[in-house]
Amino acid sequence: MGVADVVSPESVVEVKGRYLADLMGRGLQGTADAVVLPSSVDEVAAVMRWCYEHDVPLTARGGGTGLAGGAIPIEGGVVIGFERLNKVRAYDPLLWRMHVEAGVTTADVQRLARESGLRFPPDPGAAEISQIGGNIACNAGGPHAFKYGVTGHWVTGIEAVIPPGEIVRVGGPIRKDVSGYDVKSLLVGSEGTLGLVTAAWLRLVPAPELELPVIGLYGDADAGISAIERVLASGVVPAAIEYLDAVTLSYSGDAYPFGIPDGGAFMVITEADGSVAEARRVAGELREALTEDAVAVHAPEEPTEVAELWRWRSGAAFAILAQRGGAFSEDIAVPLDRLREVAAETLEIGERHGVPALSFGHAGDGNIHSTFLFSPDDPAEEARADAACHDLFELALRLGGTVTGEHGIGWLKRGQLEGQLGAAGYDLHTRLKQTFDPKNLLNPGKKR
Ligand SMILES: Cc1cc2nc3c(=O)[nH]c(=O)nc-3n(C[C@H](O)[C@H](O)[C@H](O)COP(=O)(O)OP(=O)(O)OC[C@H]3O[C@@H](n4cnc5c(N)ncnc54)[C@H](O)[C@@H]3O)c2cc1C
Repeated sequence: MGVADVVSPESVVEVKGRYLADLMGRGLQGTADAVVLPSSVDEVAAVMRWCYEHDVPLTARGGGTGLAGGAIPIEGGVVIGFERLNKVRAYDPLLWRMHVEAGVTTADVQRLARESGLRFPPDPGAAEISQIGGNIACNAGGPHAFKYGVTGHWVTGIEAVIPPGEIVRVGGPIRKDVSGYDVKSLLVGSEGTLGLVTAAWLRLVPAPELELPVIGLYGDADAGISAIERVLASGVVPAAIEYLDAVTLSYSGDAYPFGIPDGGAFMVITEADGSVAEARRVAGELREALTEDAVAVHAPEEPTEVAELWRWRSGAAFAILAQRGGAFSEDIAVPLDRLREVAAETLEIGERHGVPALSFGHAGDGNIHSTFLFSPDDPAEEARADAACHDLFELALRLGGTVTGEHGIGWLKRGQLEGQLGAAGYDLHTRLKQTFDPKNLLNPGKKR
């Protein structure tokens, strides 16, 4: 008997490349004996029960936009995709909540909320493709996580299938719950290694009436980071605080909608939002904090300009990738007082390894995409870029940070966790995994 015997025939699809890789960018493709796309939670449970009975690895796959190799089936077995588990089970706009299955895309949740004047604030960059299940599994963030928090903050309940094939519900359409251990938060960010998320209850908020970005351009990283510190010290709460360094601007600046001024070599993007009066008040304070030492300050007001700014910001990753065809873009996070060192030492690491280096990212959260470029036709350069990433992980830990603030450990950062958590912390982590998944069949090889 095979896994195909426990689900409906149309739920088993051909094993194709698209189910064997993600967007990690290292060309790695896994292997699988079967790909199952269940249409019901019962089918998900049946697949897990079968895998558990037959000792077969089971790898969850959402939209496949992960950047850490988390959805790649490294040890073969069954890939379970959630794209057909895509129903909105309930939407109560007057109660600011939505109950969706795991395969609904992030953008569809955002659109549905927007139609009723609400917002689902998490805004990871690949929202048209990524799924809520994948966002929960990675605890995805995005530029506006600075004010609104990451995905887990907006999840009040999770339905999941846990080994050996039980359907559990933790939390629900409730805004507070301190009954048991916080198992919901354990599943959030667990990268498919503890259970399969099949549905979630999401919290929403009324959408802001107005969004007003205020952008400062500076002569160097020191001046730009001082501006970020002034913003933080000013006491106002921007929705986002991002930075793009000189090298990033040299690759993407031509398309910046408001024109990079002469001498503008480091950009800080902030945004005020809220009611019209609140957004204007906060924007005024942001302008004041950003103006000192700035080469220019831009403050677009038209909604089309604001959308254009964020589209350009999202596209920066592609402009960077286009430079040499290959880029390892990491996602370390450090305490806010160490941003200056990340910006400077990223460049030093690149220089040491002979690869172009740059940094940009969610500065307000200390979560920076330090990036090392290489040509895919040059294996030696690729190896040097990889070595640079390892130096970067060491830097993150030395600065009291984490090797991943967004993308997860996945496959890419395997082996990094023990160094970060320490022996006792890592042992606890391992014992939690064993409690959920004693046979180590759920996404084996990941998050360790
Ligand atoms: C252009 C671009 C921009 C991005 N910007 C951001 C950003 O701003 N912030 C950010 O945080 N990330 C960002 N990402 C990374 C990625 O989009 C997020 O990590 C996203 O949450 C992954 O969702 P997915 O559905 O594609 O998951 P996948 O890539 O399919 O899977 C990711 C992990 O989740 C597990 N998984 C997937 N679905 C389930 C499920 N239902 N149950 C249990 N486990 C599951 C997989 O096993 C894997 O370990 C970006 C990626 C790209 C390509």
